[in-house]
Amino acid sequence: MEQIWALSRNFGRRPINMDGEATIQELKNKVKKFCEDRDWNKYHNAKDLAIGIITESSELLEYFRFKSEKEIEEIFNSPEKKEKISEEVVDILYFLLRLAQKYNIDLATSLDKKMDKNKKKYPINKAKGSNKKYTEL
Ligand SMILES: [Mg+2]
Repeated sequence: MEQIWALSRNFGRRPINMDGEATIQELKNKVKKFCEDRDWNKYHNAKDLAIGIITESSELLEYFRFKSEKEIEEIFNSPEKKEKISEEVVDILYFLLRLAQKYNIDLATSLDKKMDKNKKKYPINKAKGSNKKYTEL
């Protein structure tokens, strides 16, 4: 019911939450088309896409540099500032999706495999509530 109310208030604008609608493949296809329409394949090798992930990550970090926890919380409470943060997050996602798309990395499968490894590295009985690295558990 709350979702219907939210949708009706948002009528005529962009959907409020599409994460539950879009597949990773659709996102990869969207990024691929954007790049191919601009003939950017020649620039998108693994090294430069990885550099893109890091440079965009640095742009995200810049918003938090020298900020207290309270100031960071205020950033996320400001729709304008949150929009800027969202743009940097999506810049990172764009390069990540492009890298995965160009080099046939199945993100869902890879995430599952990595999470399985992490479950072994960080068993709940040892890691719950702890911020220690797995080598120190
Ligand atoms: Mg950026």
